[in-house]
Amino acid sequence: MGGATSRQETISALVASKVVLNRLNYREISCKSIYGCNVFNEDVQKARLPKPVFKALQKTIKLGQPLDPGIADSVAAAMRDWAIEKGATHYCHWFQPMTGATAEKHDSFFGPDGGSGTAAEFSGKELIKGEPDASSFPSGGLRATFEARGYTAWDPTSPAFILEQPNGATLVIPTAFLSWTGEALDKKTPLLRSMEALSTQALRILRLFGNTEATKVFTTVGTEQEYFLIDKHFIALRPDIINCGRTLFGARPPKGQELEDQYFASIPERVVAIMAEVEHECMKLGIPAKTRHNEVAPAQYELAPIFELSNLAVDHQMMTMEILRKTAEKYGMACLLHEKPFAGINGSGKHNNWSMSTDTGENLLNPGDTPHDNAQFLIFCAACIRAVARYGGLLRLSVCGASNDHRLGANEAPPAIMSVFLGSQLTDVVEQIEKGAAKTSKAGGMFETGVSVLPKLPRDAGDRNRTSPFAFTGNKFEFRAVGSSQNPAGANTILNTMVAESLDYMATELEKAIKSGKTLNTAIQDMLPKIIKESKHVIFNGDNYTEEWHKEAEKRGLPNLKNTVDCLPLITEKGTIDLFTKYKVYTKRELESRAVIFAEAYVKTLTIEANTMLMMAKTMILPSAIRYQTELAQAVASGKAAGIESPAYETLKAVVEAIVDCQKKTAALEKACSHHVEGEVYDHAKYARDKVFAAMGELRKTGDKIETMIADDLWPLPTYREMLFLSR
Ligand code: ADP
Ligand code: MG
Repeated sequence: MGGATSRQETISALVASKVVLNRLNYREISCKSIYGCNVFNEDVQKARLPKPVFKALQKTIKLGQPLDPGIADSVAAAMRDWAIEKGATHYCHWFQPMTGATAEKHDSFFGPDGGSGTAAEFSGKELIKGEPDASSFPSGGLRATFEARGYTAWDPTSPAFILEQPNGATLVIPTAFLSWTGEALDKKTPLLRSMEALSTQALRILRLFGNTEATKVFTTVGTEQEYFLIDKHFIALRPDIINCGRTLFGARPPKGQELEDQYFASIPERVVAIMAEVEHECMKLGIPAKTRHNEVAPAQYELAPIFELSNLAVDHQMMTMEILRKTAEKYGMACLLHEKPFAGINGSGKHNNWSMSTDTGENLLNPGDTPHDNAQFLIFCAACIRAVARYGGLLRLSVCGASNDHRLGANEAPPAIMSVFLGSQLTDVVEQIEKGAAKTSKAGGMFETGVSVLPKLPRDAGDRNRTSPFAFTGNKFEFRAVGSSQNPAGANTILNTMVAESLDYMATELEKAIKSGKTLNTAIQDMLPKIIKESKHVIFNGDNYTEEWHKEAEKRGLPNLKNTVDCLPLITEKGTIDLFTKYKVYTKRELESRAVIFAEAYVKTLTIEANTMLMMAKTMILPSAIRYQTELAQAVASGKAAGIESPAYETLKAVVEAIVDCQKKTAALEKACSHHVEGEVYDHAKYARDKVFAAMGELRKTGDKIETMIADDLWPLPTYREMLFLSR
């Protein structure tokens, strides 16, 4: 009888496999000289551009002034020469279409020179504008397929870089992606618009405080990326991970994460080798990777960079995910960025640390030692609280998607209810403000360790809270609901716009009051208590995982949008359209297109998952169960022939029951999938959630049950136990 020998062979191959781990030698590599060596950064620009061109370009990059088209040829020529010296043969416009991934089309620098040779060409026109066929990217109706034109437009604020590849290198130019009619077909354009909107409003507040120096306020982002590393031998035998990035079947292993022995534990050697090479690649691209550690779940890890301007941070984030995937492969591992690759253990997020900073380097969310005294900080902080109170639904919408649904609203960190954690010090200040004026700030004081040889430690004024979706962490907010696979541009676009609206409101109030003769201080003292009163229902410092909080949140009227389908109608609500059109972040048509694109993506994801499950149930799980049934039946029959009642009989009965159940659930899912849904794409999404997703859950239960019943040598799929604990 043929067993599931491929699984056993795979494990033997894995145990025997030797991966070369030592590929980098930092006794010979100088971090200082490789940092940013593949970036067309300020130093390279200064060295290679004529002075006036350099100055003009810097004005665009640093001050956001419109690009002088006259300098494009000069910049392009310098970029080309630099790139060719670095080994590049091609250039590409790199963009972030609505697929959530990145896109690139490479063109050679070299063309016939008119004689019999070749010459390197790269004009300013080619630098500024590209024209990829847009018809195969999601547009949500923004563009009919016969109007295929789409344009990529150079984003000078994110420097071009060299991507080293096998057999050559490519000059990569970060770009925005727009339709022929000028509508954003990507994630970068709205993000840039939202940064502008926030800057404009934040500057109004700063001017009221007499700040005449700052010319721009930037949002800053630092993203902590969680990921799994699984040995590629296993992946080859898991159609679900290959197709969907996650396991669709898999019984709970006897040991999961319950011993809490994985978080911050010693990092396995192969993993640390991957991390080191990832960081090496990041360094060359000027991506400031900072922290590496084991995460909570087995085989789960984290990489955190140092924060940067949002636009750059997002581009770097997208590159980092790519580097993680490619580097893991070199070491025989697959990097899983899906939000929930394995049921029953933690999923992965991408904590989005966010703040606002002036071009003169002042972090506007820095409370100082005495926040009650720092009116400017209180204004910016209150703007964030007010924004979440008013637009919590939008914040939830900003991280929706089929894969992130497995985390948010599915009994995992953080919940789908958007609340703000402030910590004890700020909560105390806020409560004082609400009652009138804040007069004191609780101090952190010193920490008594009880051990005389240990140094005395200063205590932070507020504790941390790991369960809150939007937590104030010292001098920034940490938005924890972003999914590990998501492009963080979407979340930051919404966050920036929400806060811009609050800053606008507050600036208007203050300006009015001052015009009517009030001092700034009185104006603030009149306004802040009102804002706190209106917004404080969104503040929650307790455990966000508990059932009590969910009940309490409902009482407070906070939205609890449990899944993507619940979120989607928000996109085209009047309030949303008003908000985004007012600050020129999205047009109405752009929002409508997003509603279609997200619904389509949801339906497609679920359809692929359901079809993969059906294939696995029919061609892998049921056949192995039926083989086991045959073995058991033979045991029973031979027992009978020998005149004994075989103990295999009870097992046989149970296995037959499980097979019948699995067949039933397979048929039910098949039926759900083949049902024709009337209506719009949103109706399809709703149907997929209510019927297809539900049927998938049922089929998984019986598939997982079979895994725990049948002979191990007949089971074809690498198990959780193997994937999670042998991938080291
Ligand atoms: P953790 O939440 O794991 O304790 P840290 O507090 O060390 O992590 O920082 C997490 C992230 O926050 C890092 O990427 C860091 O660069 C980023 N960060 C720090 N300050 C800011 C800021 N002002 N704006 C945006 N991100 C910031
Ligand atoms: Mg964090």
